Amino acid sequence: MPWPTTFVLQKEEVDENGDANMEGALIARDKVGVQDFVLLDSHTSEAAFLNNLRKRYQENLIYTYIGSLLVSVNPYQELDIYTVSQMKLYRGVNFFELPPHLYAIADNAYRVMCNEYNNHFILISGESGAGKTEASKKILQYYAVTCPTTEQLQTVRDRLLLSNPVLEAFGNAKTLRNDNSSRFGKYMDIQFDFKGAPVGGHILSYLIEKSRVVHQNHGERNFHIFYQLLEGGDKDLLCWLGLERNPQKYTYLIQGRCAKVFSINDKNDWKIVRKAFSIIDFTEKDIEHLFGIVASVLHLGNIQFEEDSNGHAIIRDGSQIKWISKLLGAHLSILQEALTHRKIEARSEEVLSPLNVDLAFYARDAVAKAIYGRTFTWLVNKINGSLANKDSTQKTVIGLLDIYGFEVLDTNRYGLFLGFGVTWGYRTFLHEFLSVPSAQQGKFCINYCNEKLQQLLIEMTLKAEQEEYELEGIEWEPIPYFNNKIICDLVEQKHKGIISILDEECLRPGEATDLSFLEKLEEKVGDHAHFVTRKLADQKTRKSIDWVDFRLLHYAGEVTYCAVGFLEKNNDLLYRNLKEVLCNSKNSIIRDCFLLSELDNRRRPETVATQFKNSLTSLIEILMSKEPSYIRCIKPNENKEPGKFDDFLIRHQVKYLGLMEHLRVRRAGFAYRRKYELFLQRTKIFIRFPKTLFATEDAFEYRKHLLISRLQAKYKGFLGKRAYQKKRKADFWRSWDIF
Ligand code: ATP
Ligand code: MG
Repeated sequence: MPWPTTFVLQKEEVDENGDANMEGALIARDKVGVQDFVLLDSHTSEAAFLNNLRKRYQENLIYTYIGSLLVSVNPYQELDIYTVSQMKLYRGVNFFELPPHLYAIADNAYRVMCNEYNNHFILISGESGAGKTEASKKILQYYAVTCPTTEQLQTVRDRLLLSNPVLEAFGNAKTLRNDNSSRFGKYMDIQFDFKGAPVGGHILSYLIEKSRVVHQNHGERNFHIFYQLLEGGDKDLLCWLGLERNPQKYTYLIQGRCAKVFSINDKNDWKIVRKAFSIIDFTEKDIEHLFGIVASVLHLGNIQFEEDSNGHAIIRDGSQIKWISKLLGAHLSILQEALTHRKIEARSEEVLSPLNVDLAFYARDAVAKAIYGRTFTWLVNKINGSLANKDSTQKTVIGLLDIYGFEVLDTNRYGLFLGFGVTWGYRTFLHEFLSVPSAQQGKFCINYCNEKLQQLLIEMTLKAEQEEYELEGIEWEPIPYFNNKIICDLVEQKHKGIISILDEECLRPGEATDLSFLEKLEEKVGDHAHFVTRKLADQKTRKSIDWVDFRLLHYAGEVTYCAVGFLEKNNDLLYRNLKEVLCNSKNSIIRDCFLLSELDNRRRPETVATQFKNSLTSLIEILMSKEPSYIRCIKPNENKEPGKFDDFLIRHQVKYLGLMEHLRVRRAGFAYRRKYELFLQRTKIFIRFPKTLFATEDAFEYRKHLLISRLQAKYKGFLGKRAYQKKRKADFWRSWDIF
């Protein structure tokens, strides 16, 4: 079935009189490729796809459609295509009338939302550094500039825009792949009123990478906020927080050996964050407590332990702990005791057991991770409070999902090899073998999330569309695609899935180990087609340590996970006495984050993987109830270089983003699909109800009655309120007189 030709002609395609110039058109096609892959002459081969993408990229045309899906290739340079005049150009214009652009996707979602009063989401995916966050920010800016607004709504607009720098300061970091890498997943709903003005928003965050607070690979940094505070914070503030300006003084900031990054201006970013705080309605007290926590994390990292004569840990220098006690409002001696002892319950009695040096370091890092991670959640809630729209009238939303891409490459392991041999000792051992592989559980969750999103895409496009054609008896040659449901089940199935097996092992403290978890996996899912385990005992580098991996054959390729640290990360334990200190803190944010109810031993907290699984399930439910738009971002090279198109790297992304399957379905399928009710609602003025479609008069009457009552139900609440809409309501019912 042919796809309608694009309506817009490129400049070489018209002659000086504005008429079509076939020769020019062919030359243009040859030079800049086609702006919709569906229009490719040759069959849907991967080579033709890559060729078209390359041609366009070399002409700085970074956007190409596959039907209504947008493929974006990171230009790694500022392009002149995001100006206000460009935004206005795309405003209210039909999808294919202008060259492909983010703004066209944003505008299309907005227009359909306004016309059909339904909710949308734009799913932005791709690997780290592919341009997801930039795309989501540009879409937000587009709405901020082009949507109607009032003076009253100006604040909401500013808050929506300024929530980004705050979340990026606390949730983004420089990594090897991206100088501003988002280390959390983000879903943001922008709420619009009936006039299409943005009136509020809501953010959901997913799985912040807490392990980064205490450990960074070489060439990577901690979260931006630490460097911003040291670089930009004024003297009085730093003095009050007990901090020095030099980041080299802080253990948690120097492991990556790149505190200063050429592409990042921490001082300037600090100013933006400070401004954002005041607009987002943070009180001075909030800010004081927030930076008290940031500074406490830095002080925690500088605490060193040494052994006393009994082999128990004692704190080497008391100055840091004094600062922490002051900033967190925690009792000094209790805090000191909590960092060097563990409270154990034995026969309904509480006993304090002294920690050895390694466990004390472990407890210290656990506190730092816990307070940072929970403060981040508090921050998101606080922003949500300020974005909340108090008006309860019916609203429509557009959701933007900027979520971490597939993690296939084993960079965590690379970091481990680089670090090896430089400062190898037991401290390093703990970091490398506990912190880094525990980041592997993060990688596991991220890849599971991508499997779920791929499943969503399959359900909403590839599968749903083909099934519908079959159902409607349309002649259709099925397009084969890999349905990754089998992998999602392997991870999430009750009792038999990897997460359940992991949780079961976490219920056996003291007995279960990462190794026993792996054995259980072998036993329960060992013969699954997408699961492989392997044991590597690399005697040379790892001496007596068993290096234990399992591999999953994801839809995007094979990924190896090191099981070391899986149990610990999944339990996410904080010693009870440390929790007690935090629950009684005088810092209001910490108190909000650590509730006394957590101390109740009868309540078993959900494990990290289960929490993630549940939040992902509700995210998928949210998305399933909305109309989708997709932006697939591609990273053109590993060197962040403009103009460099790395075929190998891009081919891999094209494969795992499922672009070829999508193209095949789009090429063969129909260009436009609407639900019957919506279609009827929009076109009923022009047509008489085609009675002939129904076998009997009764069936016709029944269908008509059903439609009318559904539409009545849908529009009743919406139309009821506003005076100006009364007219609209009258028009609406009058239009039904046609029957
Ligand atoms: P991560 O998953 O690590 O968060 P990401 O996909 O969100 O990665 P971005 O942070 O959006 O990646 O982009 C990485 C960098 O690429 C940006 O900091 C910017 O320098 C550049 N970049 C991305 N998109 C564009 C664009 N449209 N125009 C110019 N530069 C861009
Ligand atoms: Mg990002």
